[in-house]
This record gives sequence, C-alpha cells and structure tokens, in this order.
Amino acid sequence: MAQIACIGEVMIELAAAEAGPQGGERKALSYAGDTYNTVVTLARLGTPTAYVTRLGDDHYSDAIIDRLAQESIDTNCIVRHEGKVPGLYMIHNSPDGEREFFYWRDRAPARQLFHIEGELSALAEQLDNTEMLYLSGITLAIIGDSGRQNLIKFLQTYKARGGKVAFDSNYRPRLWESPQQAQQANRDLLALTDLALLTLDDEELLWGTDGDAVAEVKARYRDCDIGQIVLKRGAEDVIILQGDSEERVDVPKVTDVVDTTAAGDTFNAGYLAAHLAGKTATEAAAQANRCAGIIIRHRGGVIDKQLFLDELATR
Ligand code: ADP
Repeated sequence: MAQIACIGEVMIELAAAEAGPQGGERKALSYAGDTYNTVVTLARLGTPTAYVTRLGDDHYSDAIIDRLAQESIDTNCIVRHEGKVPGLYMIHNSPDGEREFFYWRDRAPARQLFHIEGELSALAEQLDNTEMLYLSGITLAIIGDSGRQNLIKFLQTYKARGGKVAFDSNYRPRLWESPQQAQQANRDLLALTDLALLTLDDEELLWGTDGDAVAEVKARYRDCDIGQIVLKRGAEDVIILQGDSEERVDVPKVTDVVDTTAAGDTFNAGYLAAHLAGKTATEAAAQANRCAGIIIRHRGGVIDKQLFLDELATR
C-alpha cells in the first residue's frame, strides 16, 4: 500500500547524445517530468509510492509503466488512453552551452487527469488509505480549469477522510493563460495544502517582488492554514516556517555543479521521505539537501539508481 501518491505528467525526453552524421544530432531517449522525478527518488529512498497519471496505449507508455514498476512504484492508478501517446520534449544544446527546451505536450493524455467522472471515483477508492498526495503547479496548469475544479473537490473529500496534501508551486508561465490565472489556482490549492515545498525564484516570478522576497512570502501565507512551508533558495539556506516559528537549515556546499535540472524535485523527495518517516522538519531538510546535492552533480533529472544510492551513502 502506497504511503504517498504523486500526481502529474511524465514525458518522453530526447536529450543530446552525440553529434550525428552531416552535422545532425543524435538524441538519447529517457523519461522525465517534475512529479515523476520526485516519485522515482521517493521510491529509491524506500517510501512506498504510487504514481497517478494518464498515458497512451503505445510502446513508450508501456516503457514508462515498466520503468515505474522496476522502481517498485505502484502503477495501478495509471489510466491508459486508447490511441494516445505521452507528451514529448527535446533539449537542444546550443554551441555556447545554453540549453533550450522544446515541447510537444498539448495533446498528452495527462491533460485529461481529473476530467472523467468514472476515473475520479475509482481514484478516490484507490487512494482512500494513502497518507499523502503530492502534486505541483505543473500538474495544476496542464489539467485546465475544469480539471482544477474537479481536483479541488477531490482533495476536499480526500482531506475530510484524513489525507494530507503536499504541493510544490513549480511555476511555468507558458503553461498558463495569465499570471492571474496561475495565482488563483495556487491560492485555491494552497488553501488545501498541509506541506508547501516552495522555491523563492518561483514565488518571485509568480507574485512579483518589491525587494524583500522572503518577507513577502511570509506575509503572503501568514493567514493560510499550511502546517509547514519549506522555502528552497538554491545554494542559500532553506527556510522552514511552522506557525510563528522560523528555522533555517544550511545547504552543504557543492563545488562541482553540472546541471541543476530537478534539484527542486529531488529535494522534495528527500523531504517527503523523511517527513513521512516521522522525522523533524530540520532532519527532513537536511536529507532533502543531500539528495538535491547529488542530482546537481550529474546531467539529467533522474540518474542511475545505484549511483544515486552510492553517493547518498557517502553523504
Ligand atoms: P528548483 O530546482 O526548484 O529551482 P532550487 O534551485 O531552489 O530549486 O534548488 C533546490 C535545492 O537544490 C536547494 O534547496 C538545495 O538543496 C539544492 N541546490 C540547488 N542549487 C544548489 C547549489 N548551487 N549548491 C548546493 N545545493 C543546491
């Protein structure tokens, strides 16, 4: 039985492998997505997990399910949509070392999450004994207005039955019609959130800032009923707000940063795993920093499992 279910979209990723013939590029195929990166790391840390998404009935959807199952992630909540394929994105490395992202995800089956009545009631039943649900601002963005309305009702019922909600606002402006639409969706979701895993950069981007962004975060959520707010700030110490108390946890120095993709997603997994194991917020943030510190030393959002576990054992 899963202790936590992560809800969102996993995509096919094509990243540069090597130069191909006649100046072309060869691409390496893998799978990624913010909540997917988190669920895989959570499972590697030993937390019983489930992934909730919608996929197609194609070869790549089969491969994603196999990959999740190999990581011991429960895939029973994944709905397969006939005739559909998962979303796809490509990473282009320009000669100056910058990375550009190109997406083909508009018609991905995950966009229909929380749209279909029969699926919602089945999901409620499947998640009835799951302690916590985790989702992100990307999950919120892709499901659209009617998906969000259904999601809010779903979470209200889930919480009334004793479940907890964790949320990372992961703000991607191009997935929203306007900043105002994103702000409203975030407000609605945060009203149901027990554990908020926020990033200062996203807070500034979503809400704007007049200078003291940390003070603005505190003021913004002062009257919300969020049990724990964890504020990630890159290499700067992590700030944890619980009621009126504030705590700061140092981020260990990482000198050989290669790629910060999925730093926040991996941090969240470390934090959630410790939190669900009954650890304090300080202990959870320390584990989260260790996990994120590993992923940023390697290319990609999900690294080889043994490599991850070996590096974790040395930290
Ligand atoms: P996101 O990836 O969501 O933008 P951050 O950049 O705030 O999130 O990073 C999330 C976490 O990753 C940080 O709290 C920290 O633990 C780790 N991290 C990110 N950048 C660095 C860095 N330069 N040095 C050490 N740790 C880092």
